[in-house]
Amino acid sequence: MTQVLSVSSEVFPLIKTGGLADVAGALPLALERVGIRTRTLLPAYPSVLAQVEGGTQVAAFPDLFGGSARVLSTSVSGLDVLLLDAPHLFDRPGGPYVGANGYDHPDNWARFAALSKAAALIGTGAVEGFRPDVVHAHDWQAALAPVYLEHMGSDRPATVVTIHNLAFQGAFPQTIFAELGLPDATWSVDGVEYYGSVGFLKGGLRAADRITTVSPNYAREILTAEGGMGLDGLLRGREDRLSGIVNGIDVETWNPDADPHVAAPFDRDALFRRAINKRALEAEFALEEDDTPLLAVVSRLTWQKGLDILAEACDDIVAAGCRLAVVGSGDRLLEGAFLSAAARHSGRMGVRIGYDEILSHRVQAGADALLVPSRFEPCGLTQLYALRYGCLPVVARVGGLADTVIDANFAAQNAGVATGIIFAPVTREALMEGIARLLELYADASTWRDMQRTAMSSDVSWTASARRYADLYQGLLQEQSR
Ligand code: ADP
Repeated sequence: MTQVLSVSSEVFPLIKTGGLADVAGALPLALERVGIRTRTLLPAYPSVLAQVEGGTQVAAFPDLFGGSARVLSTSVSGLDVLLLDAPHLFDRPGGPYVGANGYDHPDNWARFAALSKAAALIGTGAVEGFRPDVVHAHDWQAALAPVYLEHMGSDRPATVVTIHNLAFQGAFPQTIFAELGLPDATWSVDGVEYYGSVGFLKGGLRAADRITTVSPNYAREILTAEGGMGLDGLLRGREDRLSGIVNGIDVETWNPDADPHVAAPFDRDALFRRAINKRALEAEFALEEDDTPLLAVVSRLTWQKGLDILAEACDDIVAAGCRLAVVGSGDRLLEGAFLSAAARHSGRMGVRIGYDEILSHRVQAGADALLVPSRFEPCGLTQLYALRYGCLPVVARVGGLADTVIDANFAAQNAGVATGIIFAPVTREALMEGIARLLELYADASTWRDMQRTAMSSDVSWTASARRYADLYQGLLQEQSR
């Protein structure tokens, strides 16, 4: 059986700040069903340690970036987990990346170089009885793993780096290079050097045997100057090693028919029950009860997500006869903009600032449509949850959004395959045109219901994509054994 060491800075349900955690938590379970065994390495943040009971120590590193560390093995929600317990790096208040003061932990470079180094050591036998065939590193936080492995002899596992978001690259001042314990020669354009800085993701993309990203469309976009964020040249040079595999979702955690968080579970044959969830959501957001469309956002509130454009469009959205529920946190200016729009439109718009996983289920189950006006979106998961819950997505034509939603144009509607609305470009005008099209569809109850059913029948599971990852691993191993 092929064995994979997956390395991620966040893994649902243990710790999550975004889609990366969902993927790192769900993919191993799907891979198991196609014959791939995964162990997942992540940092033992205090909140993670509090959730696990009695892990077994399976490795110890006396000096890992300035302190001793050990690896604990345990099992959580069906995941086989390895926790990197390095108190000098991870035992502190705050989130995985940001301290309690709201700023990045100043030693993030050491924290995630340590994660990567531990992955490389485990990849080459540090945990007795476990010799992974593949080390699969997710995002910049794990991306040095292939760089370390490249210098650990020929008897090393194959390596894959997955880009979940090219905007986050892990670039640090040159002064840290000497602390990384890498050969001097890696300070070059063929190594980790990146415009005079140390680039964790850059180094990983250079060293990995294979690169993947989380949708085919994003895989194309990152090869362009516009979407490549400075790494398009490197990526074009490695195009034959790059593929896009669309994310799935955990269809057990996100199952409208058996969701413990919603007022009235429903399926595509009992869509009338959704109305109960809509009423509950109206109450939760102090919205007037009526039958106008209830639009929603569940998102980090950032420029990437195009939410500045949405914030400017709130007045138009309310004027068009819609109501709007926003759940999110992030950029303080955007938080303020949504709060003041809600104050202007009390009863028509409600905002919840914060991160609330359970509320996000209730929003998907009760809202009529989910707005995702992202400027770029590697894959996007919220629109997949929306499809599964019959909450029709209105999305920008970028990245994985364009790969996963079928626009309700004339042809798609005739063929009965439409699942949402796609608009372009990412402007307030185009967003409002998309919403106007949505309103036309909403006005025809049977068309709307048919679209909801089609959306809910979309295959958003991991089944097909897990097979693609399995094929990728196996192709890579065959190539290496030649
Ligand atoms: P990204 O990873 O760029 O933030 P994705 O759409 O890929 O975007 O994944 C975001 C994940 O985080 C989804 O599971 C979404 O439901 C969740 N999420 C984002 N913001 C919130 C929030 N404020 N409360 C609850 N869940 C949220």
